[in-house]
Amino acid sequence: MSILFNALKLLIVLLTPLSAMAQEPVEIHDELQSQGTPYKSIALTLDACSGKYDSDLIQFLIKEHIPATLFATKKWLDRNPEGLAVIKAHLDLFDVEDHGENHIPAVIGKERRVYGIVGEPDLIHLRREVIEGARAVEQATGISPHWYRGATAEYDAEAVTEIENLGYKIAGFSVNADAGATLKKTAIEERLRNVKQGDIIIAHMNKPASDTAEGLSVALKYLLQKGFVFVRLDQVNVRDITTRGKSRKQ
Ligand SMILES: [Zn+2]
Repeated sequence: MSILFNALKLLIVLLTPLSAMAQEPVEIHDELQSQGTPYKSIALTLDACSGKYDSDLIQFLIKEHIPATLFATKKWLDRNPEGLAVIKAHLDLFDVEDHGENHIPAVIGKERRVYGIVGEPDLIHLRREVIEGARAVEQATGISPHWYRGATAEYDAEAVTEIENLGYKIAGFSVNADAGATLKKTAIEERLRNVKQGDIIIAHMNKPASDTAEGLSVALKYLLQKGFVFVRLDQVNVRDITTRGKSRKQ
């Protein structure tokens, strides 16, 4: 009897965090898998959510030959033909991946929100967000995306399963450089000072009025001087380093 009771208690303990996790979206954190090379590899990822085209930032990357993975929504691609033309002329540097159709977070259920942005009512809507986002990238660049990053970079467990079943890898990050393009230049420099091998940096290329271009220009040059080599996500594998249940933007 007591064995059964203890087994039941154990089961409850084991199941509780799982059920709690299902309610809370998780911010996925990744880093580059060790490639067995002597290079100090890192990746720069830039989100184009909605909004405009940060020409200063993209021109800086072109000038310095810094490759980057760009996560663009259909919304952004439709509204920024000038930016898209520049990116398409430099597909040797830029890998364009899927950031969804309309920038809706991958959390499921009525009234669910992340940072005030309403999520998806059901899995059918999530599927549309992912697939139509991918179609837009393919139509814009001629290349099918293989990575998905949802709006806000937070995901429900069932959304993760759905996105992976659709054939996309989920792109997390390990260093949040600009907190949604809200940080000042010095704060961005500060956040990038301690970048280490394997880090995946997230920043934004859709807010030209922000300090992001200015902050990254200084910080990325510093990282180049330190011998880091920038790689794109279509060239590497990543490793999940998410601390479950403790997810918040840095
Ligand atoms: Zn976004």
